[in-house]
Amino acid sequence: MDQPLILDGLRVAEDIKRKVKEKVAGLKEKGIVPCLATILVGDDPSSATYVRMKGNACRKLGIESIRIHLPKETTTEELLATIHELNDRDDVHGILLQHPVPSHIDERKAFEAIHIDKDVDGVTSLGYGQSAFGFGLYPSCTPAAILSIMDYYQLPIAGKHAVVIGRSPILGKPVSQLLLNRNATVTICHSYTQNLEHHVKQADIVVAAVGKPRFVQGDWIKPGAVILDAGYNKGNIGDVDYDACVAKSGAITPVPGGVGPVTIATLVKHTVEAAERKATLQAQ
Ligand code: NAP
Repeated sequence: MDQPLILDGLRVAEDIKRKVKEKVAGLKEKGIVPCLATILVGDDPSSATYVRMKGNACRKLGIESIRIHLPKETTTEELLATIHELNDRDDVHGILLQHPVPSHIDERKAFEAIHIDKDVDGVTSLGYGQSAFGFGLYPSCTPAAILSIMDYYQLPIAGKHAVVIGRSPILGKPVSQLLLNRNATVTICHSYTQNLEHHVKQADIVVAAVGKPRFVQGDWIKPGAVILDAGYNKGNIGDVDYDACVAKSGAITPVPGGVGPVTIATLVKHTVEAAERKATLQAQ
């Protein structure tokens, strides 16, 4: 069998960021600075790291980043008030509420409060629904990143059997919809799925979005399958047992350096697109 193709997320992210930079320069000529507001509630160290990485990526590309850090005691009403303020701000083009928020907060209600024009991570029902129908402006960033990696490496999707492990609203479900819209035959697996291994063994494309380190085993992989590992667990470990799966695969994303950097690049891309769209609408 041919050597597996290692899908280099850093390379894909650089390609996206290069195009973003050009768009930022164009906007700045018009006096517009794209701006992403991130909201972190509480002290979860991983969430704090993710938010910091997103802010840093913005700044490196000349995008304004407003970081709002609310205490863990914040109520749903207080969080909603913060989101409404950001919705009303003319200078903010994208809003990212870092998931998860503390359990006493109604996270769904908070996501729904984000204005659709600023929903750059596809978390509102409307944003999700539009992407599912195939005309969404800003699909959820990790699912969009997975598709970008496949497109960058020209990996075929149409007619392939994709098995997605996980059905979360931010990852498993939307990536399944995006793959379906690209004419894959999609099987969605979750914690109630029986004989998971049997399903994965049928897959031409495996998307791992489980949240369990090294969950996908080497002997589950059909020779030549394309493996996209969205997992990010403590110690930089993916949801795929990389060492066991790499030799069986046709192509595979490593962790780190796979889906993660492309997710961040996609978030900044969506923010810049939101700023461009607003400028276009205002000019009409
Ligand atoms: P999540 O909300 O916890 O969802 C996990 C999903 O996996 C659920 O649908 C769950 O099924 C399913 N699952 C759990 N155990 C299973 C089992 N034994 N067999 C089959 N399915 C099982 O997690 P998430 O937010 O989607 O995140 C998934 C992974 O992606 C995590 O590692 C996370 O860190 C990572 N992630 C990475 C990025 C990135 O930028 N790279 C972004 C977001 C998330 P049920 O629905 O039945 O409970």
